[in-house]
Amino acid sequence: MNTTTHERDVVVIGAGPAGLTAAHTLAKAGKTVTVVEARDRVGGRTWNGTAVADDGTPHFIEIGGQWISPDQTRLTDLVDELGLQTYQRYRKGKSVYVSPDGSRHTYEGDRLPCTEETEAEMDKLIALLDDLAAEVGAEAPWAAERAAELDTVPFRDWLARHSDDREAIDNVSIYVASGMLTKPSYAFSTLQAVLMAASAGSFSNLVDEDFILDKRVVGGMQSVSLTLAERIRELGGDIVLSSPARQLTWSGVDPTTADEANNVPADVRNGVPDNGAPGTVTVVSDKVTVHARNVVLAVPPNLYSRIQFVPPMPREQHIAHQHISMGLVIKVHAVYETPFWRDKGLSGTCFGGGRLVQEVYDNTNVQTDADGTPVEDTNGTLVGFVSDVYAEQMWALPEAERREAILSAMADYLGPETMHPIAFYLSDMAAEEWTRGAYATSYDLGGLHRWGHLQNRPTGPIHYACSDIAAEGYQHVDGAVRQGEAVARTIIEGL
Ligand SMILES: Cc1cc2nc3c(=O)[nH]c(=O)nc-3n(C[C@H](O)[C@H](O)[C@H](O)COP(=O)(O)OP(=O)(O)OC[C@H]3O[C@@H](n4cnc5c(N)ncnc54)[C@H](O)[C@@H]3O)c2cc1C
Repeated sequence: MNTTTHERDVVVIGAGPAGLTAAHTLAKAGKTVTVVEARDRVGGRTWNGTAVADDGTPHFIEIGGQWISPDQTRLTDLVDELGLQTYQRYRKGKSVYVSPDGSRHTYEGDRLPCTEETEAEMDKLIALLDDLAAEVGAEAPWAAERAAELDTVPFRDWLARHSDDREAIDNVSIYVASGMLTKPSYAFSTLQAVLMAASAGSFSNLVDEDFILDKRVVGGMQSVSLTLAERIRELGGDIVLSSPARQLTWSGVDPTTADEANNVPADVRNGVPDNGAPGTVTVVSDKVTVHARNVVLAVPPNLYSRIQFVPPMPREQHIAHQHISMGLVIKVHAVYETPFWRDKGLSGTCFGGGRLVQEVYDNTNVQTDADGTPVEDTNGTLVGFVSDVYAEQMWALPEAERREAILSAMADYLGPETMHPIAFYLSDMAAEEWTRGAYATSYDLGGLHRWGHLQNRPTGPIHYACSDIAAEGYQHVDGAVRQGEAVARTIIEGL
């Protein structure tokens, strides 16, 4: 049990981009704030890491989130405010497509080189999904007129209802199933898929990799959180690392709910105000106990139940939180002496719907030199993604077989040189206790229209902030920043 106590206006649980943006906004407004973080670092699912070569040489990699798209304006504004620089993903040359029969094709532009019939089917599906995204929007998809209808049809079934072209279905699936929600397309609803598209502006934006995977931060996306943490400390805020929140005391109980006949103590049932007004909260974490007037719960929703709430949460939250789960994806990092694919006139961008590695990109780093000038690495780095059921299959293999299988799948696109990286690393966020999957959480079938309306509604003095409950920037760092700013503004008004 810790012996340190803080008295603050606000306590923030979680030092990812959402929690730190909230803390920074609060501290700039003169509010006192303590952030408690379970890990020994800030940044959450953004994480500057190292892939060590066989000869011991360290190579910079981004284990977690890294790309920014042009619509993610709150994040780009923050990057500017923090004095960080960005650079564009390498994209010169031809892309590679491997079709279901295993044949390899190079192409330019963002239209996959399929047969005319398959292209027409893909265009039709994308146009329908663009219309749905415009109809439903990202702010409150649960309130859309057809919310229940769309939320009870698995995305795979919806695609199959509108097309019988298997290749078109597999390719359109990539953009939202393996590419975003990282769950099989039968495991989430059409409404959930439409939210993903609407949050990025349209389904067509998801299809355009030059849009959705546009820029990276020099020095890595975690630099956003590292710099935010510095600023918070300069403003007098505390960030306590390696200190998971274990217990959150947040409300009195409603005495009328006591059930003496069954020895059930009084609790809150549904009877809490949901305006987020200040109250009295106490967060007990491993290193510090914080008494405050509001709390920002800035952790992904799959982790809410790791904290003991005193009294327990209202029943609707108990149920809702059980229907939100993490996806699963392995981010593959392969570092080479040189970006050999560029010498062949290839961009490093590769697609293959339904394959083990469905997407590959050139991920060569730009870092600053001694003078602070951004310079591209001479080593070339590829990043690939192994999603959902394929990720499960890969983790079940012995390490050498897993590496061989993944590199072979990438070599199908870029040639035999792909088999011989000087450093190789697999991001394993599913094994991380304080994340438990990747990239983010989403509702199971039917969950979004039943419980989505609760996700941003405060529970007494508890406010929620996370990319996974964002509208614009949903499941992305930009959404985390938007959420952090929004709850901080609401709390400042209330205080
Ligand atoms: C492999 C991968 C690739 C991704 N790629 C991209 C990308 O290219 N672009 C993009 O925009 N996004 C990407 N994302 C998503 C992006 O990283 C997340 O959307 C973003 O980090 C979410 O921020 P957050 O603050 O909401 O949550 P998190 O980053 O998850 O932060 C939550 C924090 O809470 C802490 N925590 C949890 N429980 C407790 C507790 N009980 N007490 C104290 N602390 C606790 C965690 O340790 C963590 O630090 C990617 C994610 C992954 C995993």
